[in-house]
Order: sequence, then C-alpha cells, then structure tokens
Amino acid sequence: MAYDVVVVGGGPAGLAGAVVLGRALRSVLVIDANEPRNARAAEVHNYLTREALSPDGLLAAGRADAERYGVSFRTGTVRSVTEAAGGFRVETADGEAVEGRRLLVATGLSDVLPDIPGLAERWGRTVLHCGHCHGYEARGSAIGVLGDSLAVVMNTLLWRQWTEDLVLFLNDAVELDPAQRQQLDARGVRVVAGRVSAFTDEGVRLADGTVVPRDHLAVHTRVEARAGFLAPLGLKTAELPLGLGTYLPVEDPTGRTSVPGVWVAGNASDARAQLLSSAAAGVTAGEALVMDLVMTDAAQAR
Ligand SMILES: Cc1cc2nc3c(=O)[nH]c(=O)nc-3n(C[C@H](O)[C@H](O)[C@H](O)COP(=O)(O)OP(=O)(O)OC[C@H]3O[C@@H](n4cnc5c(N)ncnc54)[C@H](O)[C@@H]3O)c2cc1C
Repeated sequence: MAYDVVVVGGGPAGLAGAVVLGRALRSVLVIDANEPRNARAAEVHNYLTREALSPDGLLAAGRADAERYGVSFRTGTVRSVTEAAGGFRVETADGEAVEGRRLLVATGLSDVLPDIPGLAERWGRTVLHCGHCHGYEARGSAIGVLGDSLAVVMNTLLWRQWTEDLVLFLNDAVELDPAQRQQLDARGVRVVAGRVSAFTDEGVRLADGTVVPRDHLAVHTRVEARAGFLAPLGLKTAELPLGLGTYLPVEDPTGRTSVPGVWVAGNASDARAQLLSSAAAGVTAGEALVMDLVMTDAAQAR
C-alpha cells in the first residue's frame, strides 16, 4: 500500500485528521476537489483564533499545518473506492488510482437551494442559510425568511435577534397557527402571504409582482452528503428526518463506518457540524485511525 491513509476531502475535517495522522508519522495523501461548502462566503466566523479570515485563508493555513508533518496533497475528484488487498484502491475522475490501508472520508455536503430565480447567484452573499455564520454581519439590515415546511417559526425568531426589520414570507408553504402568529406579532415580525417568485437586488418578488425590499434572504437548503463514490464498498447515505437531506451513517462517535478501515468526519456524516466542529471530528477520527493502524501493526508483527 502506498499510503497508510488516503483522506478524501481537504476541508477542515480532512485537514485536521491529516494533521493528527501526519504527527503520528503515518504516510497520508489528501485528495481534494477544492470546492468547500463555504466557498461563496467572504469570511469565516466562530472559528476560535481565525475570526473573519477568508475561507481560502483558513484552508491554506490548514494545508500548511499538514505539510509540516509530511502530508501529501493531490487535487482531484474521487470517483470510486474499491477494496484492495490490505486496504482500498481510490480512483479519481482523471483515471489516476492510489492505494491506502485506511480511508478517511471528509467530503462534506452539497447545499441544494430552493428552485427560485436569484438564489443561486446570491448564495453565501445576500442569500444566507445560517444565522450563526452570517447574522452578525447582516445585523440591522432588512432581512426576509423564506417560508418552507420546516421549523420556520423558530428559524424566524432566531433571525429576529439580528434585526428589527424582519419579514417571514409564507411562500404558499407555511400555515401558521394562532399561537405562532402571536409569537411573531409579539416580536414585531411582519408576515407576508403569497408565493415567492424571485429574489433580486431590489428584494423579494412575489408571484403577483409585488416587490418587498430586502437586503438579505434566509433560506433552508436540502443537504446532501457527497458520498456516491463509496457505493462500490456498500456504503450508502441515509435520509435525515423531515426531508432535510442525506448523511453517511456512522457506528460510533469516532466516525467509524460499517466498513472496516473506513472513517468519516465533518458534514458528510453530521449536517449540523460547523467549521470548528468539523475540524474537531477530523481530529477524533484521525486519532481512531492511528489506533486502528497501531493495533493492526502489532497483530501483524506477532
Ligand atoms: C455560505 C456558507 C457559509 C458558512 N460559513 C460558516 C462560518 O462562518 N462558520 C462556520 O463554522 N461554518 C460555516 N459554514 C459551514 C461550513 O462551511 C461547514 O460546516 C464546513 O465546511 C464543513 O467542513 P467539512 O470539512 O466537513 O466539508 P467541506 O469544508 O465542504 O470540505 C469538503 C471538501 O471535500 C471535497 N470533496 C467533496 N467530494 C469530493 C470527492 N469526491 N473527491 C475529492 N474531494 C471531494 C470538497 O471539494 C471540499 O473541498 C458555512 C456554510 C456555508 C454554505
């Protein structure tokens, strides 16, 4: 086997795992498609000691940390992983293949936006999914919340703490009960009925042509774990409740999967994880991988 561990995905989860493995003197290759989830954001927040760094800056610092301990990098998209004697064969879309004794999957997830014109091009800038990531920067602005079938009232109340000028768009998807209306009234949230047909630089356009001026629009995305390349190993994603999306199930808190030798960390298995918690999951998985290799080496030495 060329490498002890092949890490698929070089975001915070994969890089943090690679640092742990490199520091344990393991040979590590990180293969990364270079499309991190937060690429469209201007800054990184809630990452202790790295506040307001650019997403690229955070990853460059993480790569430098890993390179310090001999971790190798390759740019590419992993297309399939199959079992090989003593480990795994990892094939990239350009037809190259490498082998590793173990695999750390840290490929994150894809955000699928509601099919409304204007959202995709404003994603991560004025179209926002997470109050904790963007709320402080959007504070005091005119914010809208796009209604959907999920916990929209709770989400609207969350956004309310960052602005007094908040509108909930029902978007023909939400029916509020009297208690919910009262909660929103009490916090001064305006409720606008009607289907949303577009989001433009002027604001939210409704199907009847009315435009409600808004600087930002908060939306829920469907989250889909990036894991199709694991199908040959029999590892499949599972559905999250309420149609929220998909995730890769794990067997224990270290991220061990049902396939021996394969661990997963970060958003691929935990849609709620943010940057710092994804990195933390990478550390935990890296430590478990080190121990797994240590025990295998000891057994083989007998
Ligand atoms: C717009 C936006 C802003 C955000 N802002 C913040 C914030 O300020 N603070 C915060 O804590 N969180 C923020 N988040 C959440 C944060 O982006 C994620 O929690 C974090 O990126 C998850 O880390 P990860 O390592 O699991 O995945 P990612 O960072 O997405 O990294 C996964 C990597 O794997 C690569 N990859 C995927 N598939 C393959 C494949 N088949 N082969 C090779 N490589 C592959 C991808 O290209 C990517 O580089 C934000 C999210 C969004 C959408």
